[in-house]
Amino acid sequence: MTLLKYWFIVAVLAGYAGMAQGQQTTPWNNKQCAVVLTYDDAIDVDIDNVLPALDSLNFKGTFYIIGSSPVVAKRISSWRKAAAHGHELGNHSLFHPCDGSLPGRGFVTAENDLSKYTVARAVNEIRANNTLLQAIDGKTNRTFAYPCGDLQVGGQYFYNQLKNDFAGARGVIPGFESVNDTNLDNIKCFMINGQSAQYMIGLVKQAMQSHTLLVFLFHGVGGGHNINVGLKEHSSLLHYLKKNESTIWVAPMVDVAQYIRKNQPAAVKK
Ligand SMILES: [Zn+2]
Repeated sequence: MTLLKYWFIVAVLAGYAGMAQGQQTTPWNNKQCAVVLTYDDAIDVDIDNVLPALDSLNFKGTFYIIGSSPVVAKRISSWRKAAAHGHELGNHSLFHPCDGSLPGRGFVTAENDLSKYTVARAVNEIRANNTLLQAIDGKTNRTFAYPCGDLQVGGQYFYNQLKNDFAGARGVIPGFESVNDTNLDNIKCFMINGQSAQYMIGLVKQAMQSHTLLVFLFHGVGGGHNINVGLKEHSSLLHYLKKNESTIWVAPMVDVAQYIRKNQPAAVKK
């Protein structure tokens, strides 16, 4: 056997061994990594700035909708059109309650204070928001995003009662996750507030190198929210993703969550 043949066989066997351990180099829908673009709080710029930017490059994003947002009431047909084009309308609860008992939560109003809720009220309002979203987009499958990243009411994890209502739930903790490691009850993400395109593209490169999931959490894009990313910075990120589309899987959270659920070993599934 020539040395070249020997090395070829070794390389093939090493490849099989890696795959057997779930270490494929292209684990994300046959691409190197997955990138999910999420936009929170149902604001006007989602429709005015984000959707035209995504649609121009044929990317699909996830919009986490607060059912009581006036932008839902005023622009139902725009949200419906976005969903018909393949964007996800995710659930960000009916009233966006956050835990007002935590430090730095002076912005939480008495009526939207999650620390004054019961678990049943939190769960019922989130289910009512699902009904509203289904009335808009006709879909029964979507993901949830925790308002303010708050997981508990009175020390109880309220999402435990909602696991069968959603494909997954996005949190606010930063990090990259492999298919096997992703906790679908609290999916990690990077919240963007004023960072440059270079920073965001750097995150994408890290995801490509580590074969992991990268979730972006945006609020305002070119204004519209006190947490914001510049329009040009956002556009540069999208164009980088487009340029590398052959190796990056860009998809709505619901598609990626369903993919993870299908491909995780049974023992990891929560
Ligand atoms: Zn929010």
